[in-house]
Amino acid sequence: MAKKQTAGRDHLGKLAPEFAKYNDDVLFGEIWAREEELNPRDRSLITIAALFSAGLYPQLKAHLQMGKAHGLTKQEVVETVTQLAFYCGWPKAWSTFPLIEEVYGSEDTSPYNFPGDQDSFNVVAPYPMGAPNDAFAQYFIGQSYLSPLTMDVIPTFAVTFEPGCRNNWHIHKATSGGGQMLICTAGRGWYQEWGKEAQELHPGDVVAIPPNVKHWHGAAKDSWFQHIAQEVPGTNTASEWCEPVDDETYSKLP
Ligand code: MN
Repeated sequence: MAKKQTAGRDHLGKLAPEFAKYNDDVLFGEIWAREEELNPRDRSLITIAALFSAGLYPQLKAHLQMGKAHGLTKQEVVETVTQLAFYCGWPKAWSTFPLIEEVYGSEDTSPYNFPGDQDSFNVVAPYPMGAPNDAFAQYFIGQSYLSPLTMDVIPTFAVTFEPGCRNNWHIHKATSGGGQMLICTAGRGWYQEWGKEAQELHPGDVVAIPPNVKHWHGAAKDSWFQHIAQEVPGTNTASEWCEPVDDETYSKLP
């Protein structure tokens, strides 16, 4: 769900209270909130196009910020402006690119990054986020969410990590069978085995984690991440939780 909007009342509540009311309660409270009909990301995209076309740069910057929160990537808005320049006017693109840099920063970011808010990640992630992963919170840095998908045949969960969230080093132990399968579904994350380089994860990637191998997995520092985790059945299976992935090691990862 889109955030409750108060910009109207914040800026114009005194001068134009009726305008503020319609802005916050009807335009954002009702129209933008109709997510089944058109999701917030797509509403941001068309609003950016409309404001670009009219050359309304202060509102355009505000909607670039909102679009970022709704999951539009820098590459997507740059591409949008590149196309719109042909329809709306070349100089408007020159005026807009600096706004994109102000909102997104000038550093390169992965097209898989999802730095937006939690509600917007819910829209793009294929599995429901589920409940805060309180039972395992002591073995995580940052907030994760756990959504059981099935407990039959192979117990399967959707795990969602907020940006910067990762689990501690751990081992899925078994005397035969066992291990864990990860299937990445949204955002950008990492997997690392003890003594090896960390491996960047994108939607569609599959990681087969052998039993009795020390490892961790989680989100990139600037992106939400979701994967399916399957607990492969085996004999004498148990998880052993070890030390956290220290900030120095983690923060070096792009
Ligand atoms: Mn694991």
